[in-house]
Amino acid sequence: MREQADRPGANGDATFAAYERLDGAVGSGCLLICDHASNAFPPGYGTLGLPSGELERHIAYDIGAAAVTRQVSRSLGAPAVLSCFSRLLIDPNRGADDPTLVMRISDGAVVPGNATVDADEIACRVARYYEPYHSAIDGAIDAAIATGHPPLLVSIHSFTEAWKGRPRPWHATVLWDKDDRLAVPLVEALRREEGLVIGENEPYSGELKGDTLYRHGTHRGLAHALIEIRQDLIRDEAGQRDWAERLGGIMQSLLARPDLAQELRAIRYYGSYTDDDGPAVEAGAVAAKHRTDDMTEIDQATKTELEAAVFRRLVAFLRERTDVQNIDLMNLAGFCRNCLSNWYRDAAGERGIELSKDASREIVYGMPFAEWKAKYQTEATPEQLQRFEEVRPQDGH
Ligand SMILES: [Zn+2]
Repeated sequence: MREQADRPGANGDATFAAYERLDGAVGSGCLLICDHASNAFPPGYGTLGLPSGELERHIAYDIGAAAVTRQVSRSLGAPAVLSCFSRLLIDPNRGADDPTLVMRISDGAVVPGNATVDADEIACRVARYYEPYHSAIDGAIDAAIATGHPPLLVSIHSFTEAWKGRPRPWHATVLWDKDDRLAVPLVEALRREEGLVIGENEPYSGELKGDTLYRHGTHRGLAHALIEIRQDLIRDEAGQRDWAERLGGIMQSLLARPDLAQELRAIRYYGSYTDDDGPAVEAGAVAAKHRTDDMTEIDQATKTELEAAVFRRLVAFLRERTDVQNIDLMNLAGFCRNCLSNWYRDAAGERGIELSKDASREIVYGMPFAEWKAKYQTEATPEQLQRFEEVRPQDGH
C-alpha cells in the first residue's frame, strides 16, 4: 500500500508527520500527551473508505482534546506531544499487541480500509506512525530526566456525552492505574470547582496494559494521570479555553504545593501487571476442602436436587440481570443464555425427550427469546463485536 522508506525514529514520512512536538521548558516538571489529537490520514489512505462525516465523530479522534492540550502547554510552559494521525489508522493508546490496535468496526461504523488489513500492513502503520509518536514521548521524557526533572505525565482525552443513548453524568473524569500520586490530588482539585461532576476511572478503567500511560508512566515510574473531558464541553473555542485555563491552573497549583511537588516529580515504581491471583486460589482451596468434608454425608438424589437448585438460581439470576448481555457472557466466559438453553435441550435429548430450540430457550429466558431480545438486548459496541469475533466458537453463534 505504501512505499518502503521506514527509518527508525523517523517522524512519519516525507509527506506526513506522525507527531507534533510543542516545545516548552524541559524542566517545567510536566509533559502533556494527546493520543487522539487528530482525525487525519496519511496520503494513500484516503478516509479508510469512510464518508467524511464519520471523520468528524469521536470514532476518528478526541474532539477538542488537541486544542486544550495546546493551550495548557502554553500556559504551563510545558512540552507536549500530539499524534497527527487518526486513531482509526492505528490507536496509539493501545499496546502493540492489543486486538483493538486497528479497529475494523468502530461504534457501529464498519471501517472499510481496515477490513482486510493484514499483519504486514499493521507492522507498517506501527513503524511509520505509532512508534515514532511513542519515540517522541520517550525522547521528551529522556530529555527532562537528563536535566534532573522527571516530568509528570498528563494525557488529555475527550469522551462522548452519551453512550448507547444513555447520557454520561461526568463533566470530566480522571483515569489511572496503580500510581495515584497525581490522580488523587487532581480529582480533589477538580471536585473543588463549582458545579463539576468528576468521575474516577470512568467511563473506562485506567488499567489497560500497554496503553500510553502504562508504557510511559507506570513502566518508567513517572507520576501520571489521564484526564477525559466530555466532548460537548470542549467542542467550541470558549469551552476549550475554559478547560485549558482550569487544567493549567490546577496543574500549576499542584506543582507548587510543597507537600506534593517532590513526590510528583520523583521516579517511583508502583509495580505493573501480574497474573497473581493468590487470594482467589486461596479461597477456592478452602471451598474445596469443605466440599470433600461435607459431601460424604450427602446421597446422590439430594446431590442432584442441590445441583438443580443451583441451576434454577443461576437462571433466576440471569433473568434478573437483563443488563448482562449475551455477548458479554460470550466474550468473558465463552457461553451465554443460548448455550444454556442448548445444554438443557441436549440433556433432554439424551433422555429421549424432544425439545424444540424455542421451547428450551423459553425455559431459560422465562419468555419467548424474541420477546426478551426486543426488550433487553442492546446494540453491541465495536469493542464487544471485535472481541466476539476472536472468541466466538465455530458453531453458528
Ligand atoms: Zn482518547
